[in-house]
Amino acid sequence: QTQPEEMLGVVVVGVGRAGSVRIRDLQSPQHHPSPLKLIGFVSRRELGNINETKQISLQDALSSTEVDVAYICSENVGHETSIRQFLDAGKHVLVEYPMTLSLASAQELWKKAEEKGKILHEEHIELLTEEFAFVKNEVRGKKLLEGTLHFTGSPLDRERFGFLAFSGIARLSWLVSLFGELAFVSAAMEEQKENQYQKMTVNLETVDKRPLTWIEERASGLKYERRINFLFESGRLESIPPRTQGQKNIFLRDQDIFVRKLLGQMSTEDLAKEKKHSLHCLGIADEIQKYCQHLQ
Ligand code: NAD
Repeated sequence: QTQPEEMLGVVVVGVGRAGSVRIRDLQSPQHHPSPLKLIGFVSRRELGNINETKQISLQDALSSTEVDVAYICSENVGHETSIRQFLDAGKHVLVEYPMTLSLASAQELWKKAEEKGKILHEEHIELLTEEFAFVKNEVRGKKLLEGTLHFTGSPLDRERFGFLAFSGIARLSWLVSLFGELAFVSAAMEEQKENQYQKMTVNLETVDKRPLTWIEERASGLKYERRINFLFESGRLESIPPRTQGQKNIFLRDQDIFVRKLLGQMSTEDLAKEKKHSLHCLGIADEIQKYCQHLQ
């Protein structure tokens, strides 16, 4: 067991869907020795206690010597400021994806984390799902000719979650993890404000100049779904089997990765790979946003 003096105090910022899961995971008996201890949570709403855990003010979270780690689980627009505040206060940071809503801010925050000697971890649960494991396995060793990833879901408020290329970074992260670094070619946006309809179509290219299309479509009543159509020299992959009951708690698995980083158990190579992946995806999202703004 980890000794109490080696325990790292955690504060969770933002108690929505993601934040609630994080709090629950930190409160439940850990499945293996964990150095994490939940100290409190920060919310804009007055929530009082959640089980035994108390709500604390942002100022207390920043200044408390009991707090070593912040989990940033608030809406995307707030991530940048929160990460900066907690790094400046000398805390390690875990942030739900997307880290920030621009490449420049992510680069600045990475630099700050390195200067401060703190871990900056961007959650990527999309890479820990059964669906991703299936597709990754199917793609392995095959030569891609062309492909499409089409995501549908309910509307997300842009004011809170940012431009579609950022709020949908999980899809881009899939494509990059499956096919390597991608180059941005062009993009188109369709929007109908009255019924919150948004569709972003992005043309990307692999290093072998193979075309990949990423479609992010959101509107009321649209089911949360990913459709793929990948054409390989050896055949086509068009469906992903439905998730089974056996899917592990992916937020917990993400936390395990974070803990490995905190304990210095992840190699410098793997750390650099993750950072590169994150910045590459945010860089493409940034290019897409700039391109689409230019079209308006
Ligand atoms: P949500 O709307 O359910 O929760 C966001 C919460 O943050 C709200 O309760 C809001 O009141 C709170 N909040 C906003 N600003 C705050 C601030 N300054 N201080 C304290 N609290 C603040 O959204 P969500 O689905 O939980 O998403 C949160 C983050 O997690 C997003 O970055 C999202 O991209 C990421 N994420 C969510 C999921 C998921 O399954 N829900 C999966 C992966 C990543």
